[in-house]
Amino acid sequence: MKNRPIKTRLTIYYTAVLAVIVLASCALIYFNSSQFSQARARENLLQVVQAGFSEIPSDPAGDPQIPTGFSVYRSGVSLILYDASGVRLKGAPPADLPKNLPLESGTFKQIAGTDGEYLLYDLRNPYENGQALYIRGIYTIDRNYSQTTRTARILMTGLPILALLAILGGILIARRALDPVTGITRAAEQITGGGDLSRRLPLPENKDELYDLSETLNEMIGRLEGAFLAEKNFSADVSHELRTPVSVILAECEHELEQDRTPSEYREALSTIQSQCRRIMSMIEQLLKLSRQLDAASMIEEEELDLSLLCESICCEMEGVAAGKGVRLTWDIAPDVLVRGDETLLMRLLINLINNAVKYRDPNKNEPSVSFALSCEDGKARIEVADNGIGIAESDLDHIFERFYKADKSRDHSVAAPDESFGLGLSMVRWIAEAHGGSVSVESQVGEGSRFTVLLPRV
Ligand code: ADP
Repeated sequence: MKNRPIKTRLTIYYTAVLAVIVLASCALIYFNSSQFSQARARENLLQVVQAGFSEIPSDPAGDPQIPTGFSVYRSGVSLILYDASGVRLKGAPPADLPKNLPLESGTFKQIAGTDGEYLLYDLRNPYENGQALYIRGIYTIDRNYSQTTRTARILMTGLPILALLAILGGILIARRALDPVTGITRAAEQITGGGDLSRRLPLPENKDELYDLSETLNEMIGRLEGAFLAEKNFSADVSHELRTPVSVILAECEHELEQDRTPSEYREALSTIQSQCRRIMSMIEQLLKLSRQLDAASMIEEEELDLSLLCESICCEMEGVAAGKGVRLTWDIAPDVLVRGDETLLMRLLINLINNAVKYRDPNKNEPSVSFALSCEDGKARIEVADNGIGIAESDLDHIFERFYKADKSRDHSVAAPDESFGLGLSMVRWIAEAHGGSVSVESQVGEGSRFTVLLPRV
């Protein structure tokens, strides 16, 4: 049963339940109708017997006088008259009824004859002179119970027809209800078979459970499509980024190998190759970091930590780095801001933001500066890193958190060395913020500076 299709199982359960209900109803109807027929037969028998007595008057001497036209067969009842000693005076019992049945006034008896069943009722009527007369009424049960038998027959033929109709109805209902499932399965098979993740499952007309299921599956396919696309883009981006330095190295090698060179020319060529190799190395390192952190997404080690202390120590550390590049780093940190999170990841987030603020300083400004702030806002910790650097063009703002995105236009004016820039830092920042249940946003104006804001849930 377990391996049968839902349609078949539904039909079987449904038919079984219906059959039980119909059988129980039939039994109830049959029982009631037989009870009713019996009660009616007894009542009829009693009435006919009593009516018989009322037609037999007594003469002046007190003896019962049986009228000559006394009918012994009325309303399906045969009447037999006996005197007080049990001698039959009028009427005849059915031939198959046992002889010499004792007369017992006021009792109903059900007696089986060879041809059928009989219901008997005897009544004794005493007369004034001490005489008595018995009337025995006999009902042929078959006749009286025919209504019940007919009901039973109707039920017996009706039941299989009803069961058949129920099975057909069940199959139709199950098919109608589950038809969308077949559609969903086919569409899902086509999507997985053809590998076309841009397709979606058809939504059923009614907004029922299957509609919700299709919608959820469509969302899942959408997310899968996004993930596949991101992977594809990622590989393309990595290849692109690696191609540039590798092409430079190849070109340099080919150029140097064309003819003999002086040692200083070789040194110069090797230095170019070294710088390109460094670039590749640095990129590989960043990619490794990113992928390790993404792998660890499900294993973020969350602990309660004092974000104020963490920010303070990072700012102290970065102050020297910034000063080395001529940037003044100042900070304003609210004390005792507690969050749940992974210390290493949060450190990376803070360092990335401060590093960028220093990296994208404006060389034309007299006093390049970065201000760091930690405050509390509606149950959240708010981290702000603001600089007066080169700023970000509006068209780039929507993309800077994407992997490998570099706002080239702004970079033209920046003092950032190309070796340091891969467009991976902010995607890491966003991932870390979101992995902690928080968010990151940016406001910026070209030539004015940028302000990055991170919101993290507080303990
Ligand atoms: P990377 O700095 O390695 O290029 P990021 O992901 O950290 O990568 O940054 C993406 C881009 O966003 C950078 O290329 C840069 O153009 C821009 N950007 C990030 N931070 C700033 C900032 N503080 N000021 C100006 N531009 C910035």
